Amino acid sequence: MPGDTFAQPLANRFAFVTGGTSGIGLAIARGLAAAGATVRVSGLTDHEVAAATTAGEDAVRLDVADGDAVEAVIGRLNRLDVLVNCAGMIRRGAEHEADVFEQVVGVNLVGTMRCCTFARPLLARDGGSIVNIASMLSFFGGGLVPGYSASKGGVAQLTRSLAIAYAADRIRVNAVAPGWIATPLTEALQADEARSRAILDRTPLQRWGKPDDIAGACVFLCTPAAAFITGAILPVDGGYLCA
Ligand code: NAD
Repeated sequence: MPGDTFAQPLANRFAFVTGGTSGIGLAIARGLAAAGATVRVSGLTDHEVAAATTAGEDAVRLDVADGDAVEAVIGRLNRLDVLVNCAGMIRRGAEHEADVFEQVVGVNLVGTMRCCTFARPLLARDGGSIVNIASMLSFFGGGLVPGYSASKGGVAQLTRSLAIAYAADRIRVNAVAPGWIATPLTEALQADEARSRAILDRTPLQRWGKPDDIAGACVFLCTPAAAFITGAILPVDGGYLCA
């Protein structure tokens, strides 16, 4: 029935969310499950995986910088319809060191590409879709975080490029660009009163975002309602970009 399709648009679909043990990724995983999908999440550490498992998630450990591990955990799935690349890191203040820069780009950008590459044959079986997590720093620079900014600018361009490359396989590739969201990743920023005030002053909706604010947009991009959307970078930012 069409009504069921709208209520559970991802019924019988299998979704994998990297970085899904925490923050934005965990909210996305729960949103996908509420839309009917069967969902597996991954996290970087045993501690994160154990906490997510205790909270009821199907969670596995995966370092997206490790090609063999990505092949084993994503490439050898029996089925995959939705891939959300949410694993990410930031090293505020340390990213002018080349080693740190390389590590951040390796996780956020190369890790995203690696997961897409291993997921592609599985997603191609039944018109799957990918959502990458970009950032406000996909659109402008960050003096304290050149690696993070370069990686997220790269994620936007990667999204557009793979949208073209994977279209023949009926795989849609989009990105969500979150504004400033209260998660462990932004704890230092939230605690920095001046920076937090500056962020709120420029955000028309006048608050920090919540992980759930990102989940709805991400779920939408994975459903048949978005069947003609590919290569889009959707800001979910309380209006920050337009202010
Ligand atoms: P978070 O710290 O709560 O979650 C980060 C997740 O990434 C965790 O599950 C962690 O295990 C995983 N991770 C980190 N390094 C990894 C690696 N090498 N391999 C695999 N997994 C790894 O942070 P969050 O704020 O929820 O961030 C999630 C994503 O959203 C990131 O890509 C981040 O860049 C992006 N983002 C966050 C904000 C924000 O304001 N919080 C804004 C824009 C974009």
